[in-house]
Amino acid sequence: MRRYDTLIIGGGLVGSAVAYGLARRGLKVALLDEGDIAFRASRGNFGLVWVQSKGLGVPEYQRWTRQSSMLWDDFAVELKNETGVECAHEHRGGLHICITEKDFAERKKAMQQLHLEAGETRFEYEMLDHAQLKKLMPEIGPEVAGASFTPYDGAANPLYLLRSLHAALLKRGGEYFPHSKVMALKAAANDFTVSAGGETFNAPKIVLAAGLGNRELGALVGLNVPVAPVRGQILVTERVKPILSMLTIWVRQMAEGGLLIGESREEAGFNDATTPDVQQFLAKRAITMFPFLRDVRIVRHWSALRVMAPDGLPIYEQSAQYPGAFVATCHSGVTLAAAHALRYAEFVDAGALPAEIARFSNKRFDVQNAA
Ligand SMILES: Cc1cc2nc3c(=O)[nH]c(=O)nc-3n(C[C@H](O)[C@H](O)[C@H](O)COP(=O)(O)OP(=O)(O)OC[C@H]3O[C@@H](n4cnc5c(N)ncnc54)[C@H](O)[C@@H]3O)c2cc1C
Repeated sequence: MRRYDTLIIGGGLVGSAVAYGLARRGLKVALLDEGDIAFRASRGNFGLVWVQSKGLGVPEYQRWTRQSSMLWDDFAVELKNETGVECAHEHRGGLHICITEKDFAERKKAMQQLHLEAGETRFEYEMLDHAQLKKLMPEIGPEVAGASFTPYDGAANPLYLLRSLHAALLKRGGEYFPHSKVMALKAAANDFTVSAGGETFNAPKIVLAAGLGNRELGALVGLNVPVAPVRGQILVTERVKPILSMLTIWVRQMAEGGLLIGESREEAGFNDATTPDVQQFLAKRAITMFPFLRDVRIVRHWSALRVMAPDGLPIYEQSAQYPGAFVATCHSGVTLAAAHALRYAEFVDAGALPAEIARFSNKRFDVQNAA
């Protein structure tokens, strides 16, 4: 039997960030991951550290996201120092482009509301009309109505992030077990035994960070985790010279020169195929925003499944039935990576989730609470 302080189930961005965070605090950690046949949102996402659209009607989510974006600055440097891997983190603010006047008007309302709800923490933003946006980003097309801007947004390369989290975990004495799907989980209060990859693991704490697998695993430790897949498709272009001066929510240029064009939101169950109609929609929208893209070739097209709670918020909880069993899941694993490593890991280490993240408890799904 292999014994640890904490077992983390799921080696995607959420599990790896929490695992690194715990190892960084001196805990003996094992990170168990199913492997390539699993659904892995962490390997198919857009890489934004995005704040401006988060938390309308839920200021706690806006604060949590913004906190993570702020922590990201030092976190990226820390990962680079620990591992030598550069996550291509940038934090220069971002634009949500509005193509029609109607989009622009709706966006303006939403941003005003976010500003109101932020209260003392404030929420700085600017609405830029076509002329103002054109000054900032001369590449925009004539049909674009405008954009919203906040200084909080940024981006990173999610694959480098994942690699650096794994490397940093190992450097801090953590252990990573690929091809280790959890097949059985025996739970008692502060005593968890797991069979995975032909081995047995035991620890007083366990963190479920298995993305879409959390629904099934949660049931084994008395945690309701009602996550479901939401498909997203992304296009990648050939590399071109640096052309996009700013980061936008649907088109961004990576450090290597290729442009990422995102991204759909589809109810397609567990079907993670790509489809030509969505490819066309994404390409058309991107060309309307940035007409120069008409002459740039698409070289890749992929799809991945988001890990989505019914209300789109993260789920953070500790089992009342089996104390020591935690769950962490969200649909913004890049954005929240710093918060997961530096804050959520601290809460797991302390053995209790604080009021700051109580809004993300799974109690919100209880029938009684909903009534
Ligand atoms: C198209 C798209 C675009 C996105 N864009 C962004 C973005 O711009 N910014 C952002 O912040 N987020 C974005 N996201 C969301 C982000 O990718 C996810 O929030 C994040 O990857 C979730 O990470 P995770 O670790 O929870 O899940 P996953 O990456 O799915 O990892 C779960 C892991 O658990 C393992 N697993 C499952 N079951 C078991 C088991 N029984 N035993 C052992 N291991 C198991 C799997 O092997 C897998 O590696 C996007 C997602 C998609 C699909």
